[in-house]
Amino acid sequence: MWFDLHADIGYDIYKEHLLGNDNRFQEYHLPRLLKDNVSGVCIACFFGDYESWEVMQDCVLFARNQILNSDVQFVLSKEDLKSDKFKVILTIEGMYGIQDDVANKIQWLYDQGVRIGSLCWNEENALATGVRGTVDHGITALGREAILKMQELGMILDVSHLNDKSFFDVMEYDLPIIATHSNARALCSALRNLSDEQLEVLKKRDTLVGLNAYGNFVNDDESLRDCKHLVEHAKYFESKLGLSRIACGFDFMDFYDPNTFMLADMQNSSELHNLESALSKVYNKKDILRIASLNTLDFLKKYL
Ligand SMILES: [Zn+2]
Repeated sequence: MWFDLHADIGYDIYKEHLLGNDNRFQEYHLPRLLKDNVSGVCIACFFGDYESWEVMQDCVLFARNQILNSDVQFVLSKEDLKSDKFKVILTIEGMYGIQDDVANKIQWLYDQGVRIGSLCWNEENALATGVRGTVDHGITALGREAILKMQELGMILDVSHLNDKSFFDVMEYDLPIIATHSNARALCSALRNLSDEQLEVLKKRDTLVGLNAYGNFVNDDESLRDCKHLVEHAKYFESKLGLSRIACGFDFMDFYDPNTFMLADMQNSSELHNLESALSKVYNKKDILRIASLNTLDFLKKYL
């Protein structure tokens, strides 16, 4: 029933490959996700602030191969969403490795099956500036080329890691926008969360925001990092954007960093039932299903 818009599984696949394991997705991730009632996932190839274009290519190719070698539906277009199989979308988180020849490199990513991408992680790179970068730096000339190429190809631009200036620069463009894994800044002050001003702009776009289960983005008070308080972000997004815009992008990372604190009652996908029960205190079954997966599927049907 769940569709997770953000998991660094592409990164994990590549990391495991470097350790000599080339079956990480089939043997580890897929069985877990199926058991945990997840019906689809966006597999992010994550790049921080040092990777070359060659490393980006390697990571994407290994993630792609493992998707192709698994009994899943590799979603490349809206037609693929009709499949009953577990659905996988290949995504890019951060494009540090793209420093020139932008249009051809974006084209290459698209040709490998990448359908959602963010221009940067938290860093400042040749295309854009993330939340840890210089406050008044936004989208660069190369970044604008990247956005236009993504628009031409029909790719979806993920705004989750952009700093505020880059975020508002992106809003000048008319391509599909999504915030795959960000909460509301009004409820938790992390800069990775969306401000009211940003939500005001997102309200005018046909977009989705994915609830993030990383503790630091749920509540400033460590004792309040639980499913109940994640549901408060859903209620807040509902008040600002409407129920049809709320989705899930949990950002679980237990599979490569078991020490990361997510939520007291939801450390990974095996505890999604706790989120379901917290949601059921304020939402009926139909609305929970919308948040868990249907809103995401509706959005992807429109834009893939
Ligand atoms: Zn992220």
